[in-house]
Amino acid sequence: KERNGHEPEFLQAVEEVAETVIPYIVEHDIYYGKNILLRMVEPERVITFRVCWVDDAGEIQVNRGYRIQMNSAIGPYKGGLRFHPTVNLSILKFLAFEQVFKNSLTTLPMGGGKGGSDFDPKGKSDNEIMRFCHAFMSELFRHIGPNTDVPAGDIGVGAREIGYLFGMYKKLRNEFTGVLTGKGLSWGGSLIRPEATGYGAVYFAENMLKTKNDTIEGKNVVISGSGNVAQYAAEKILQLGGKVLTLSDSSGYIYDADGIDAEKLAYVMNLKNVKRGRISEYVNVYPSAQFVEGKTPWGVKCDIALPCATQNELHEEDAKVLLANGCICVSEGANMPSTKEAIVAFHEARILFAPGKASNAGGVATSGLEMTQNSLRFNWTREEVDKKLKEIMANIHDACITYGKGEDGYIDYVKGANIAGFVKVADAMLAQGIV
Ligand code: NDP
Repeated sequence: KERNGHEPEFLQAVEEVAETVIPYIVEHDIYYGKNILLRMVEPERVITFRVCWVDDAGEIQVNRGYRIQMNSAIGPYKGGLRFHPTVNLSILKFLAFEQVFKNSLTTLPMGGGKGGSDFDPKGKSDNEIMRFCHAFMSELFRHIGPNTDVPAGDIGVGAREIGYLFGMYKKLRNEFTGVLTGKGLSWGGSLIRPEATGYGAVYFAENMLKTKNDTIEGKNVVISGSGNVAQYAAEKILQLGGKVLTLSDSSGYIYDADGIDAEKLAYVMNLKNVKRGRISEYVNVYPSAQFVEGKTPWGVKCDIALPCATQNELHEEDAKVLLANGCICVSEGANMPSTKEAIVAFHEARILFAPGKASNAGGVATSGLEMTQNSLRFNWTREEVDKKLKEIMANIHDACITYGKGEDGYIDYVKGANIAGFVKVADAMLAQGIV
């Protein structure tokens, strides 16, 4: 706390892990007295750098770039890049810390990292995005590599940005390697990678519901966000017979009581990914839906809630409203979307609650599968990747039960994910000595 007191999101993420992992450390001699958590909270390396680029008006712009190389005990650093004006060290350290546990849970050999910039992609032309990405990579390239650190996308970094970043990396290094994941299909990408985080969060919800002999079919689902994770979470819910009632962005949410069906979702994907418009435009095309400005969608009555936008978007009051409305399952697609108090409310009500580090791990897991395919110089089919994704999500669910099931039978997925993620990384760190 003394060292990181000015980094509230990072402290929040560490406290959540510490609360469940410290009691486990105290009970297990192999971890006790080795300051193992103290070592884990200190990033192995933090890189910050200047990013200068020229906008369409000819003005020189300056942004700050970051890469947090958090932990490489079980594999090369791996984690996304976020481009958003709110990006700072606290946000990226919380994301990198979570990533270490999440990557460990996937069972694939990936360490944890995260990076990005305070660059705001909103309203920028395609050429400006390209110039920024090229400028960003002209420094980042010296710190990453397929066996060192393999970045991917996150908020504000999708297929277009990964393309520009990869183009500059390849030019500077003069080599074609799997240094980034989320690549296009014709140049090293994996099938199902765009879908993987959203699909994975729904597969995880399916696994949780199965413990209650229940399914997604016929359930009313509230989703926040309308970006990559939200879009594919919605798609999978529809495929499994659920009804999607809401989507949102930072300006508000849309509520469609008739349900956002496949055709309406295709409209949203085009609106967001091609036209780069706002979710409020949905009601111009589907006037029976409502746009609620400046609010999150948690007041809409539902059985399942999937927070898929950003950190701390679901507060204690929201959790109470969801519970009062009969919500039985929350599966986080975003990273740390529920506040600590909201999680306490879910746990006290004994509903199914999955923290992002377990339920959104499908994205990075499929990135791991992309890395494997790049190394093999071989591509798996859509069915093969989806099958592996489903297996990984089921394995993460099992690991949460192993470490999180209480004597009364209630599964604390937060505790389960934290301890299962911790054990593998801690064992590797202890084996490698004090480095
Ligand atoms: P996108 O940039 O594709 O979409 C982000 C969505 O969240 C947009 O609808 C955006 O609205 C909204 N949003 C962003 N910031 C805020 C904010 N401060 N308040 C309200 N809404 C906001 O990102 P992703 O879908 O990729 O990421 C969403 C979440 O999922 C993040 O927490 C990310 O870390 C997490 N995640 C993503 C993975 C992936 O594979 N992409 C993997 C694992 C986790 P607007 O357009 O108005 O900004």
